[in-house]
Amino acid sequence: MDLQTRALHEGYEKGAEGAMAVPIYQTTAYEFRDAEHAGNLFSLKELGYIYTRLNNPTTDVFEKRFASLEGGEAALATSSGMSAIFFAIANAAEAGDNIVCAKQLYGGTLTQTAHTLKRFGIEARFFNVHDTDAMEALIDDKTKVIFFESLTNPSIDVADIEAITKIANKYGILTVVDNTVATPVLCRPFEHGVDVTVHSASKYTTGQGLAIGGILVERKGLVEKLKANPRYAHFNEPDHSYHGLVYVDVPLPPFTLRARLSLLRDLGAVVSPFNSWLFIQGIETLSLRMREHSKNALELAEFLESHPKVKKVNYPGLKSNANYQNAQKYFDNGASSGLLSFEVGSLEEAVKIVDATKLYSLVVNIGDSKSIITHPASTTHQQLTQEELIACGVPAGLIRISCGLESAADLIADLKQALEA
Ligand SMILES: *Cc1c(COP(=O)(O)O)cnc(C)c1O
Repeated sequence: MDLQTRALHEGYEKGAEGAMAVPIYQTTAYEFRDAEHAGNLFSLKELGYIYTRLNNPTTDVFEKRFASLEGGEAALATSSGMSAIFFAIANAAEAGDNIVCAKQLYGGTLTQTAHTLKRFGIEARFFNVHDTDAMEALIDDKTKVIFFESLTNPSIDVADIEAITKIANKYGILTVVDNTVATPVLCRPFEHGVDVTVHSASKYTTGQGLAIGGILVERKGLVEKLKANPRYAHFNEPDHSYHGLVYVDVPLPPFTLRARLSLLRDLGAVVSPFNSWLFIQGIETLSLRMREHSKNALELAEFLESHPKVKKVNYPGLKSNANYQNAQKYFDNGASSGLLSFEVGSLEEAVKIVDATKLYSLVVNIGDSKSIITHPASTTHQQLTQEELIACGVPAGLIRISCGLESAADLIADLKQALEA
């Protein structure tokens, strides 16, 4: 079935009441039929619900539906995108190991990998997402994950996914892709050899800026890559925290199983059932919205490219963009989501434009149905010097837009008056 059909129906069987909308199971725990049933659930002889920190029927629908859209085998929802990223890495690496990460990353991912994981003894080594030779040179026996974003936030680069997964597979290393900005509607990384994807559901999934959440998805057949792979001994040896369970030996998707039984159990970054329900509502219209976000962003980018005050426009859907070929290859019909940025002459000019817009909200978020404008040099990147700003691809006159679902004509008119104010 088509993605849009699965977005409406996958993973939900109506109960006796026939509720059309997926019910919110706002409960902490579930009653066992008897002691034997309880024992069977704990030993995985039978699958079922125990305690909402481990699983929940509403969250289950969200996970099944999202896994289906992504073309994966199973998913694990978490309390935020940041915790999904932490789980994906912590599920593969331990103290003494390293991960190889693209340096074009979301700010929170950059601090998590470079600073927080370092204190846990996991070293992050960074490469330019377009330089796979440099990436390969960073790999050694202790490398457990290659991490990158399919469509990077905030630098708006498109990774050559197959060039990266080809090298990772040569070494039997897991690839983890943050597919938040592209979403499963525009890009399905598993079709290009990726093993695990993570998302911030807080962005396009909810779509209206309603809730924080995250999700981790594993591809079909990942067990074959983990089995007998010396890099991932902990999937092949008994887990003493779970009755000696060997993850690759049970007939369940091993990566999400371990993330649930071990990490979610012990770290507890669980999504609330209510938020899962909001994400289910968002998924119903995700493919319709992503088409509109992409269409609006392209129109806005074309307008900006034609404006004399604009020095440069970054949007992968523009033929002039260095990422255009990758966008055509990896995104459905080359549709490139709602993120774009453009550069004007100076910091002062940029601030003036941001303040003169009326329709755009000054917010540090993306993926809302309302359009958002940000000026990184005076907000998120304020501590950096002029040289550092240029080095990380954020010149002082750079303005970023998360293009919403207002009419393109109104979005263009407002930006035009702000540029000419
Ligand atoms: C927002 C974002 C995250 C973090 O997600 P939260 O839900 O805010 O924790 C991770 N990656 C990308 C690309 C993001 O845009």
